Amino acid sequence: MKLNAMVLGLALLGTASVSQEAQATGSGYTQTQYPIVLVHGLFGFDSLAGVDYWYGIPSALSKDGAQVYVVNVSAANSTEVRGEQLLDQIQSILALTGAKKVNLIGHSHGGPTARYAASMRPDLVASVTSVGGVNWGSRFADAVRGTLPEGSLAEDIVAGAANGFSSIIEFLSGSPADPSDSIAALNSLTTADTVRFNGLYPEGMPDHYCGQGPMKASNGVYYFSWSGASKVTNLLDVSDAGLLATSLVFNEPNDGLVSSCSSHLGMVIRDNYGMNHLDEVNQAFGLVNLFETNPKTLYRAQANRLKNLGL
Ligand code: CA
Repeated sequence: MKLNAMVLGLALLGTASVSQEAQATGSGYTQTQYPIVLVHGLFGFDSLAGVDYWYGIPSALSKDGAQVYVVNVSAANSTEVRGEQLLDQIQSILALTGAKKVNLIGHSHGGPTARYAASMRPDLVASVTSVGGVNWGSRFADAVRGTLPEGSLAEDIVAGAANGFSSIIEFLSGSPADPSDSIAALNSLTTADTVRFNGLYPEGMPDHYCGQGPMKASNGVYYFSWSGASKVTNLLDVSDAGLLATSLVFNEPNDGLVSSCSSHLGMVIRDNYGMNHLDEVNQAFGLVNLFETNPKTLYRAQANRLKNLGL
């Protein structure tokens, strides 16, 4: 549900867009000092881009005081290109609100995208929260891009995973979208490319795979992360089958597309919620694990954590 939704500055931002979800109201539980900016991952196709990607999450945050913005960056592009687009949009949000900084929350590829912005302009970013973030590669991306050592996975498993991924995109976008774009975007999410990226933009990262990073990094920015570690969580959600297929390339706990260990950034809140990669953003259409904390509750709790830190 959108409250007072409006699209701001489309002409200024070119193809990118920013929408404000709601004005601050309610009990104040989520009333952070700085606006919260939600940064989507690689499922950037039309019907899920921007507002709907975060299914019901903006209003869950704003109803108790958070000022929430949803940005829209290129779905299929490198982390650095997406990060530059995000920086432009952060500056627009700061100009519109008069705020000095923002709190970034990124899902999937949105995690590294937010990290790039914080690394380049730590003066504009109070915190980065990564949800199911591809911070240390994705074995799914490695498999589909062919960067795993030869013979380490049967070809039919890789083909099945790629098909599973394409079917998720097709299902969620409601039309035969172009999955080849999203698979091309996986280049940024291979282990080799994320290791390169982490060398250039290390803030908040653990110093070894699966470790914890600092809650407050040397650049003054706070870093947090959480992730799920499940695949099939709701029998009504058709996208679960796709995530089960993609999960077959992994050899460690994962949410279907990202390993629990790769999701680690800064303070690790938890890396094994009973959620798959899409449950983490309350998809598809709110079909999540009924026997786990609701994803919206996690976002609200994180806003409260940021508020209590004065962020
Ligand atoms: Ca789901």
